Amino acid sequence: MTFHSMWAELLPVGRSSASGGYRRYAWTGADTDCRTWFREQAEARGLTYEVDRNGNQWAWLGDPAAGDAVVTGSHLDSVPDGGAFDGPLGVVSSFAALDELRARDVTFTKPLALVNFGDEEGARFGLACVGSRLTAGRLTAEQAHRLTDGEGITLPQAMEAAGHDPDAIGADPERLARIGAFVELHVEQGRALDLSGDRVGLASAIWPHGRWRFDFRGEANHAGTTRLDDRRDPMLPYAETVLAARREARLAGAVATFGKISVEPNGVNAIPSLVRGWLDSRAADQATLDTVVAGVEQAARAYAEGHGIDLDVVRESFTPVVEFDHALRDELARILGSDTDLKVPVLGTGAGHDAGILSGTVPTAMLFVRNPTGVSHSPAEFAAEDDCVAGVHALADVLEGLACR
Ligand SMILES: [Zn+2]
Repeated sequence: MTFHSMWAELLPVGRSSASGGYRRYAWTGADTDCRTWFREQAEARGLTYEVDRNGNQWAWLGDPAAGDAVVTGSHLDSVPDGGAFDGPLGVVSSFAALDELRARDVTFTKPLALVNFGDEEGARFGLACVGSRLTAGRLTAEQAHRLTDGEGITLPQAMEAAGHDPDAIGADPERLARIGAFVELHVEQGRALDLSGDRVGLASAIWPHGRWRFDFRGEANHAGTTRLDDRRDPMLPYAETVLAARREARLAGAVATFGKISVEPNGVNAIPSLVRGWLDSRAADQATLDTVVAGVEQAARAYAEGHGIDLDVVRESFTPVVEFDHALRDELARILGSDTDLKVPVLGTGAGHDAGILSGTVPTAMLFVRNPTGVSHSPAEFAAEDDCVAGVHALADVLEGLACR
């Protein structure tokens, strides 16, 4: 099967006719259909198919027990109304790259595996990368058993309904110990490649990122009868803080977003008593991120004071920088650089991936394919077929360089 025909086959699975976006949530019917597609692709190629204890799907060429395996793949699930490329591009490209290597008649000296990690987006149970986190021991079975979806269905119940034994889940160090390198190909979730004019890029790192909650507390009062001078309106310093976040991020070359807000009493004719805003900020390195967040907080405190408002700032989550394996990245750059048509810029990303989870245990690298608009997690997410095919060639070159020498 060509990249084109595989892509066309997977395209309608789990797509909403109303939004045009994908609703492939973990352990639902759409997810099961995607997983069936993966199994059929594996079997059609004579690969050894298996599902690990955490529900991740594997397709092996060669003996896994031989060790030092080269693994590639991504995920097939989606965010609510997600695009077609985030995840599936990496999985489809894995099969297409294997087909290309067979057409090149290469000899594999190491086992090769293609993988579909389960529940990467966390759309249903609220935690991303559940399949890889469990495998890497970054999420315990007890923690996973407590995950619940919006309808009160627990992860074990959902797994069981889809035919997977939830009692089997947990860390899988033996499996990871057999992997010598993991390479994930992914659509770029930004415009760096579009701006540089390259089809394919290499990941340097996943940016450190975090979420901070800003609670601005003032005094509720009547929107019609309270003189402006008498108000303690927390919306005002909040609004100024949103602008400060933009300014600080721009100065530092980082990103900062207030994308969620909650207001009390949330009445159109009431001055708020509380405005709670959540800041998401990411930067290429820790020092820059610290500078941005400190700058936003300092500005917020000054604005709050100016309006007679109390402010609390709470860090709700934080993920440090993930540096991909330097030796593996250099190896990939060398492999891809020998193809003179293909420049390979190295870029960081602000998005999380299974590759980031595994990078703590296994030498890991990522390839990005150009996304002309940079839009992701939306039905408008796109990559041109020429670029996808260039990604397949690059992945095939990488796999040949890693697994055939
Ligand atoms: Zn993804």
